[in-house]
Amino acid sequence: AAAMGLTACGKKEEAPAPAPAAPAAAPAPAVLVGLAIPETHVERWVGDAEYMKKDLEAMGYKVDVAFADADQSKQNKQIEDMVTKGAKAIVVGSVTEAAAQAVESAKKAGVQVISYDRLITGTDAYDYYLTFDNFKVGQLQGQAIKDALALDTAKGKNITLFAGSPTDNNARFFFDGAMDVLKPFVTSGALKICGPAPTNSADATWSKITTEGWAADKAKARMETLLSGACKSVKLDAVLAPNDTLARSIIGALEQDGKYKTLPVITGQDGELLSAKWIMEGKQTMTVFKDTRVLAKGTAEAVDSIIKGAAEPTLTVKARVDTTTYNTGKKVVKSFLLEPVAVNKDNLTKELVDSGFYTADAVAKGT
Ligand code: BGC
Repeated sequence: AAAMGLTACGKKEEAPAPAPAAPAAAPAPAVLVGLAIPETHVERWVGDAEYMKKDLEAMGYKVDVAFADADQSKQNKQIEDMVTKGAKAIVVGSVTEAAAQAVESAKKAGVQVISYDRLITGTDAYDYYLTFDNFKVGQLQGQAIKDALALDTAKGKNITLFAGSPTDNNARFFFDGAMDVLKPFVTSGALKICGPAPTNSADATWSKITTEGWAADKAKARMETLLSGACKSVKLDAVLAPNDTLARSIIGALEQDGKYKTLPVITGQDGELLSAKWIMEGKQTMTVFKDTRVLAKGTAEAVDSIIKGAAEPTLTVKARVDTTTYNTGKKVVKSFLLEPVAVNKDNLTKELVDSGFYTADAVAKGT
Protein backbone atom coordinates (compact mmCIF):
# COMPACT_ATOMS: atom_id res chain seq x y z
CA ALA A 1 0.00 0.00 0.00
CA ALA A 2 2.82 2.39 0.90
CA ALA A 3 4.21 1.99 -2.57
CA MET A 4 1.00 3.28 -4.01
CA GLY A 5 1.39 6.58 -2.13
CA LEU A 6 -1.70 6.10 0.02
CA THR A 7 -1.85 6.14 3.80
CA ALA A 8 -3.50 3.35 5.67
CA CYS A 9 -6.76 5.35 5.83
CA GLY A 10 -6.68 6.15 2.16
CA LYS A 11 -5.75 9.86 2.36
CA LYS A 12 -3.20 11.19 -0.05
CA GLU A 13 0.20 11.74 1.50
CA GLU A 14 1.91 15.07 1.19
CA ALA A 15 5.22 13.70 0.05
CA PRO A 16 5.61 13.54 -3.76
CA ALA A 17 3.83 10.51 -4.97
CA PRO A 18 6.06 7.82 -6.38
CA ALA A 19 5.43 6.70 -9.91
CA PRO A 20 2.43 4.45 -10.18
CA ALA A 21 3.29 0.77 -9.93
CA ALA A 22 3.29 -1.18 -13.14
CA PRO A 23 0.28 -3.46 -13.44
CA ALA A 24 1.12 -6.93 -12.16
CA ALA A 25 2.50 -8.53 -15.31
CA ALA A 26 3.52 -12.11 -15.89
CA PRO A 27 7.31 -12.46 -15.57
CA ALA A 28 9.12 -12.29 -18.90
CA PRO A 29 9.50 -15.77 -20.37
CA ALA A 30 12.97 -17.19 -19.76
CA VAL A 31 15.41 -16.96 -22.65
CA LEU A 32 16.00 -20.34 -24.30
CA VAL A 33 19.46 -21.86 -24.68
CA GLY A 34 20.02 -25.05 -26.68
CA LEU A 35 22.65 -27.67 -25.85
CA ALA A 36 23.46 -29.93 -28.80
CA ILE A 37 25.54 -32.78 -27.39
CA PRO A 38 27.16 -35.36 -29.71
CA GLU A 39 26.66 -38.69 -28.00
CA THR A 40 26.05 -40.63 -24.82
CA HIS A 41 28.02 -43.82 -25.51
CA VAL A 42 31.00 -41.92 -24.11
CA GLU A 43 29.94 -41.25 -20.55
CA ARG A 44 31.36 -37.75 -20.08
CA TRP A 45 28.81 -36.11 -22.37
CA VAL A 46 25.94 -36.94 -20.06
CA GLY A 47 27.72 -34.97 -17.35
CA ASP A 48 28.54 -32.09 -19.70
CA ALA A 49 24.84 -31.68 -20.49
CA GLU A 50 23.76 -32.02 -16.88
CA TYR A 51 26.27 -29.50 -15.52
CA MET A 52 25.59 -26.91 -18.23
CA LYS A 53 21.84 -27.24 -17.82
CA LYS A 54 22.11 -26.73 -14.09
CA ASP A 55 24.43 -23.73 -14.42
CA LEU A 56 22.30 -22.05 -17.07
CA GLU A 57 19.06 -22.66 -15.19
CA ALA A 58 20.63 -21.12 -12.10
CA MET A 59 21.23 -18.01 -14.26
CA GLY A 60 17.54 -17.95 -15.17
CA TYR A 61 17.69 -19.53 -18.63
CA LYS A 62 15.44 -22.19 -20.01
CA VAL A 63 17.50 -25.05 -21.41
CA ASP A 64 16.82 -27.51 -24.18
CA VAL A 65 19.20 -30.51 -24.32
CA ALA A 66 19.51 -32.86 -27.31
CA PHE A 67 21.85 -35.85 -27.67
CA ALA A 68 22.70 -36.79 -31.25
CA ASP A 69 23.78 -40.44 -30.81
CA ALA A 70 26.93 -39.73 -32.87
CA ASP A 71 24.71 -39.02 -35.89
CA GLN A 72 25.39 -35.73 -37.64
CA SER A 73 22.13 -35.54 -39.56
CA LYS A 74 20.26 -36.11 -36.33
CA GLN A 75 22.26 -33.32 -34.69
CA ASN A 76 21.61 -30.92 -37.56
CA LYS A 77 17.89 -31.51 -37.17
CA GLN A 78 18.16 -30.94 -33.42
CA ILE A 79 19.96 -27.63 -34.01
CA GLU A 80 17.27 -26.56 -36.51
CA ASP A 81 14.57 -27.44 -33.97
CA MET A 82 16.27 -25.30 -31.35
CA VAL A 83 16.34 -22.38 -33.78
CA THR A 84 12.65 -22.89 -34.52
CA LYS A 85 11.84 -22.93 -30.81
CA GLY A 86 13.48 -19.52 -30.50
CA ALA A 87 16.78 -20.32 -28.81
CA LYS A 88 18.98 -17.25 -28.45
CA ALA A 89 22.19 -19.26 -28.18
CA ILE A 90 23.15 -22.85 -28.94
CA VAL A 91 26.12 -24.67 -27.50
CA VAL A 92 27.27 -27.28 -30.00
CA GLY A 93 29.49 -30.23 -29.19
CA SER A 94 29.57 -31.28 -32.83
CA VAL A 95 29.47 -34.85 -34.08
CA THR A 96 31.47 -34.08 -37.24
CA GLU A 97 32.43 -31.17 -39.42
CA ALA A 98 29.14 -31.47 -41.27
CA ALA A 99 27.67 -29.51 -38.35
CA ALA A 100 28.80 -26.38 -40.19
CA GLN A 101 25.69 -26.14 -42.30
CA ALA A 102 23.27 -26.18 -39.34
CA VAL A 103 25.46 -23.66 -37.54
CA GLU A 104 25.34 -21.36 -40.55
CA SER A 105 21.57 -21.44 -40.73
CA ALA A 106 21.40 -20.78 -36.98
CA LYS A 107 23.56 -17.71 -37.49
CA LYS A 108 21.31 -16.50 -40.31
CA ALA A 109 18.39 -16.75 -37.89
CA GLY A 110 20.30 -14.55 -35.45
CA VAL A 111 21.23 -17.35 -33.06
CA GLN A 112 24.69 -17.30 -31.51
CA VAL A 113 26.62 -20.55 -31.51
CA ILE A 114 29.44 -21.58 -29.21
CA SER A 115 31.66 -24.46 -30.20
CA TYR A 116 31.97 -26.83 -27.25
CA ASP A 117 34.89 -29.21 -26.65
CA ARG A 118 35.18 -30.14 -30.36
CA LEU A 119 35.97 -27.48 -32.93
CA ILE A 120 33.21 -27.03 -35.51
CA THR A 121 35.17 -26.90 -38.73
CA GLY A 122 34.44 -25.60 -42.21
CA THR A 123 32.61 -22.45 -41.14
CA ASP A 124 33.17 -18.97 -39.78
CA ALA A 125 29.63 -18.63 -38.44
CA TYR A 126 30.57 -18.48 -34.79
CA ASP A 127 33.09 -16.63 -32.64
CA TYR A 128 34.05 -18.69 -29.60
CA TYR A 129 35.30 -22.13 -28.72
CA LEU A 130 35.67 -23.57 -25.22
CA THR A 131 37.65 -26.76 -24.72
CA PHE A 132 40.57 -28.33 -22.91
CA ASP A 133 44.09 -28.02 -24.19
CA ASN A 134 43.75 -31.00 -26.51
CA PHE A 135 47.39 -31.13 -27.60
CA LYS A 136 48.36 -31.22 -23.93
CA VAL A 137 45.94 -34.13 -23.39
CA GLY A 138 47.97 -36.10 -25.93
CA GLN A 139 51.26 -34.98 -24.43
CA LEU A 140 50.16 -36.26 -21.03
CA GLN A 141 49.35 -39.64 -22.61
CA GLY A 142 52.72 -39.74 -24.36
CA GLN A 143 54.52 -38.68 -21.20
CA ALA A 144 52.85 -41.45 -19.20
CA ILE A 145 54.10 -44.03 -21.71
CA LYS A 146 57.57 -42.50 -21.74
CA ASP A 147 57.77 -42.64 -17.94
CA ALA A 148 56.28 -46.11 -17.53
CA LEU A 149 58.62 -47.64 -20.12
CA ALA A 150 61.61 -45.55 -19.00
CA LEU A 151 62.21 -44.64 -22.63
CA ASP A 152 65.14 -42.39 -21.81
CA THR A 153 67.21 -45.49 -21.13
CA ALA A 154 65.19 -48.43 -22.47
CA LYS A 155 65.65 -50.09 -25.86
CA GLY A 156 63.29 -51.88 -28.23
CA LYS A 157 59.98 -51.44 -26.41
CA ASN A 158 56.89 -52.37 -28.41
CA ILE A 159 53.81 -50.22 -28.85
CA THR A 160 50.72 -50.14 -31.03
CA LEU A 161 48.75 -46.99 -31.80
CA PHE A 162 45.08 -46.05 -31.69
CA ALA A 163 43.47 -42.71 -32.49
CA GLY A 164 39.95 -41.35 -32.06
CA SER A 165 37.36 -40.59 -34.68
CA PRO A 166 38.75 -39.17 -37.92
CA THR A 167 35.73 -36.84 -38.05
CA ASP A 168 36.55 -35.31 -34.66
CA ASN A 169 39.06 -32.48 -34.88
CA ASN A 170 40.22 -33.30 -31.34
CA ALA A 171 41.45 -36.73 -32.38
CA ARG A 172 44.32 -35.18 -34.38
CA PHE A 173 45.34 -32.97 -31.49
CA PHE A 174 45.39 -35.90 -29.05
CA PHE A 175 47.49 -38.01 -31.41
CA ASP A 176 49.89 -35.24 -32.37
CA GLY A 177 50.38 -34.33 -28.72
CA ALA A 178 51.21 -37.93 -27.82
CA MET A 179 53.62 -38.31 -30.75
CA ASP A 180 55.24 -35.02 -29.87
CA VAL A 181 56.57 -36.88 -26.83
CA LEU A 182 57.01 -40.35 -28.38
CA LYS A 183 58.36 -39.69 -31.85
CA PRO A 184 61.98 -39.10 -30.78
CA PHE A 185 61.99 -42.58 -29.25
CA VAL A 186 60.53 -44.09 -32.41
CA THR A 187 63.29 -42.37 -34.35
CA SER A 188 65.99 -43.63 -31.96
CA GLY A 189 64.60 -47.17 -32.00
CA ALA A 190 63.80 -47.18 -28.27
CA LEU A 191 60.16 -47.60 -29.27
CA LYS A 192 58.99 -49.95 -32.02
CA ILE A 193 55.51 -49.72 -33.48
CA CYS A 194 53.64 -52.83 -34.59
CA GLY A 195 50.79 -52.20 -36.98
CA PRO A 196 50.41 -48.95 -38.93
CA ALA A 197 53.02 -46.45 -37.79
CA PRO A 198 52.06 -42.82 -38.43
CA THR A 199 53.99 -40.38 -36.28
CA ASN A 200 51.71 -37.48 -37.16
CA SER A 201 48.02 -37.15 -37.98
CA ALA A 202 48.99 -35.78 -41.40
CA ASP A 203 50.69 -39.08 -42.33
CA ALA A 204 48.86 -41.20 -44.89
CA THR A 205 48.68 -44.18 -42.50
CA TRP A 206 46.92 -42.16 -39.79
CA SER A 207 43.51 -43.12 -41.15
CA LYS A 208 44.41 -46.77 -40.48
CA ILE A 209 44.67 -46.25 -36.73
CA THR A 210 41.55 -44.09 -36.28
CA THR A 211 38.32 -45.30 -34.72
CA GLU A 212 35.23 -44.11 -36.58
CA GLY A 213 32.69 -42.53 -34.26
CA TRP A 214 34.81 -43.36 -31.20
CA ALA A 215 33.08 -46.76 -31.28
CA ALA A 216 34.34 -49.22 -28.66
CA ASP A 217 33.49 -52.31 -30.71
CA LYS A 218 35.57 -50.98 -33.63
CA ALA A 219 38.62 -50.48 -31.39
CA LYS A 220 38.18 -53.94 -29.90
CA ALA A 221 37.94 -55.57 -33.32
CA ARG A 222 41.04 -53.70 -34.46
CA MET A 223 42.99 -54.79 -31.39
CA GLU A 224 41.99 -58.40 -32.05
CA THR A 225 43.22 -58.08 -35.61
CA LEU A 226 46.54 -56.65 -34.41
CA LEU A 227 46.97 -59.42 -31.84
CA SER A 228 46.53 -62.11 -34.43
CA GLY A 229 48.43 -60.19 -37.12
CA ALA A 230 50.93 -57.34 -37.03
CA CYS A 231 51.55 -57.58 -33.27
CA LYS A 232 51.38 -61.37 -32.98
CA SER A 233 55.08 -62.03 -32.69
CA VAL A 234 55.93 -59.22 -30.26
CA LYS A 235 55.20 -58.63 -26.61
CA LEU A 236 53.44 -55.30 -26.42
CA ASP A 237 54.77 -52.98 -23.74
CA ALA A 238 52.25 -50.21 -24.38
CA VAL A 239 49.13 -49.26 -26.26
CA LEU A 240 48.36 -45.64 -27.03
CA ALA A 241 44.60 -45.43 -26.47
CA PRO A 242 42.99 -42.01 -26.94
CA ASN A 243 40.19 -42.25 -24.36
CA ASP A 244 38.84 -44.47 -21.60
CA THR A 245 35.98 -45.95 -23.59
CA LEU A 246 38.42 -47.25 -26.20
CA ALA A 247 41.09 -48.16 -23.63
CA ARG A 248 38.68 -50.53 -21.91
CA SER A 249 37.67 -52.23 -25.13
CA ILE A 250 41.34 -52.67 -26.03
CA ILE A 251 41.99 -54.13 -22.57
CA GLY A 252 39.06 -56.48 -23.22
CA ALA A 253 40.72 -57.73 -26.42
CA LEU A 254 44.08 -58.18 -24.65
CA GLU A 255 42.48 -60.14 -21.81
CA GLN A 256 40.58 -62.31 -24.22
CA ASP A 257 43.76 -63.05 -26.12
CA GLY A 258 45.22 -64.69 -23.03
CA LYS A 259 48.86 -64.07 -23.90
CA TYR A 260 49.22 -61.14 -21.53
CA LYS A 261 49.51 -62.15 -17.88
CA THR A 262 50.65 -58.58 -17.24
CA LEU A 263 48.84 -56.05 -19.38
CA PRO A 264 50.81 -53.48 -21.38
CA VAL A 265 50.80 -49.84 -20.32
CA ILE A 266 47.52 -48.38 -21.56
CA THR A 267 46.55 -44.72 -21.67
CA GLY A 268 43.10 -43.15 -21.57
CA GLN A 269 41.20 -39.93 -21.20
CA ASP A 270 38.07 -38.59 -19.46
CA GLY A 271 38.38 -40.11 -16.00
CA GLU A 272 35.43 -42.43 -16.58
CA LEU A 273 34.22 -44.30 -13.54
CA LEU A 274 35.01 -47.84 -14.63
CA SER A 275 38.43 -46.75 -15.84
CA ALA A 276 39.04 -45.14 -12.45
CA LYS A 277 38.35 -48.51 -10.85
CA TRP A 278 40.61 -50.25 -13.37
CA ILE A 279 43.40 -47.77 -12.72
CA MET A 280 43.23 -48.50 -9.00
CA GLU A 281 43.35 -52.22 -9.85
CA GLY A 282 46.28 -51.74 -12.25
CA LYS A 283 44.44 -52.80 -15.40
CA GLN A 284 44.55 -49.38 -17.05
CA THR A 285 47.64 -47.25 -16.46
CA MET A 286 46.30 -43.72 -16.58
CA THR A 287 43.60 -41.38 -17.72
CA VAL A 288 43.56 -37.70 -18.52
CA PHE A 289 41.02 -35.99 -16.33
CA LYS A 290 39.20 -33.06 -17.85
CA ASP A 291 36.96 -31.50 -15.25
CA THR A 292 33.82 -31.07 -17.30
CA ARG A 293 32.16 -29.25 -14.40
CA VAL A 294 34.54 -26.38 -15.04
CA LEU A 295 34.15 -26.46 -18.83
CA ALA A 296 30.37 -26.41 -18.35
CA LYS A 297 30.54 -23.49 -15.97
CA GLY A 298 32.80 -21.47 -18.26
CA THR A 299 30.50 -22.17 -21.18
CA ALA A 300 27.41 -21.09 -19.24
CA GLU A 301 29.25 -17.87 -18.41
CA ALA A 302 30.16 -17.35 -22.06
CA VAL A 303 26.56 -17.94 -23.12
CA ASP A 304 25.33 -15.44 -20.55
CA SER A 305 27.87 -12.85 -21.74
CA ILE A 306 26.99 -13.11 -25.40
CA ILE A 307 23.23 -13.16 -24.81
CA LYS A 308 23.61 -9.98 -22.77
CA GLY A 309 25.48 -8.44 -25.67
CA ALA A 310 28.92 -8.20 -24.11
CA ALA A 311 31.74 -7.49 -26.54
CA GLU A 312 33.66 -10.50 -25.21
CA PRO A 313 32.74 -13.44 -22.96
CA THR A 314 33.74 -12.91 -19.36
CA LEU A 315 34.69 -16.10 -17.56
CA THR A 316 35.42 -16.62 -13.89
CA VAL A 317 36.85 -20.09 -14.54
CA LYS A 318 40.55 -20.41 -15.26
CA ALA A 319 41.10 -20.66 -19.01
CA ARG A 320 43.92 -19.70 -21.34
CA VAL A 321 42.84 -17.58 -24.27
CA ASP A 322 44.30 -18.84 -27.54
CA THR A 323 43.90 -16.97 -30.81
CA THR A 324 46.24 -18.96 -33.05
CA THR A 325 45.69 -22.70 -32.71
CA TYR A 326 42.17 -23.59 -33.76
CA ASN A 327 41.50 -22.99 -37.43
CA THR A 328 38.14 -24.07 -38.87
CA GLY A 329 39.50 -23.76 -42.39
CA LYS A 330 37.54 -20.52 -42.69
CA LYS A 331 38.78 -18.68 -39.64
CA VAL A 332 40.95 -18.97 -36.56
CA VAL A 333 38.55 -19.12 -33.64
CA LYS A 334 39.14 -17.42 -30.34
CA SER A 335 39.51 -20.34 -27.95
CA PHE A 336 39.37 -20.71 -24.19
CA LEU A 337 41.51 -23.65 -23.14
CA LEU A 338 41.25 -25.42 -19.82
CA GLU A 339 44.04 -27.47 -18.30
CA PRO A 340 43.82 -31.28 -18.38
CA VAL A 341 45.37 -33.37 -15.59
CA ALA A 342 47.16 -36.72 -15.88
CA VAL A 343 45.75 -39.19 -13.38
CA ASN A 344 47.24 -42.52 -12.32
CA LYS A 345 46.99 -44.74 -9.26
CA ASP A 346 48.99 -42.25 -7.19
CA ASN A 347 46.86 -39.15 -7.60
CA LEU A 348 43.49 -40.62 -8.53
CA THR A 349 41.95 -40.19 -5.10
CA LYS A 350 43.14 -36.61 -4.90
CA GLU A 351 41.92 -35.62 -8.39
CA LEU A 352 38.73 -37.62 -8.76
CA VAL A 353 37.49 -38.21 -5.22
CA ASP A 354 38.75 -35.30 -3.11
CA SER A 355 37.58 -32.93 -5.85
CA GLY A 356 34.06 -34.29 -5.40
CA PHE A 357 33.84 -35.61 -8.97
CA TYR A 358 33.15 -39.16 -7.72
CA THR A 359 32.60 -40.76 -4.34
CA ALA A 360 35.21 -43.22 -3.14
CA ASP A 361 32.47 -45.82 -3.08
CA ALA A 362 31.59 -45.27 -6.75
CA VAL A 363 35.26 -45.60 -7.76
CA ALA A 364 35.53 -48.84 -5.78
CA LYS A 365 32.45 -50.22 -7.56
CA GLY A 366 33.18 -48.71 -10.95
CA THR A 367 29.56 -47.62 -11.37
C1 BGC B 1 36.38 -35.52 -26.38
C2 BGC B 1 36.78 -36.66 -25.47
C3 BGC B 1 35.91 -37.88 -25.73
C4 BGC B 1 35.79 -38.17 -27.22
C5 BGC B 1 34.75 -39.24 -27.49
C6 BGC B 1 36.38 -35.98 -27.81
O1 BGC B 1 36.05 -34.96 -28.67
O2 BGC B 1 37.24 -34.43 -26.19
O3 BGC B 1 36.66 -36.25 -24.13
O4 BGC B 1 36.42 -39.00 -25.09
O5 BGC B 1 35.45 -37.03 -27.93
O6 BGC B 1 33.49 -38.82 -27.12
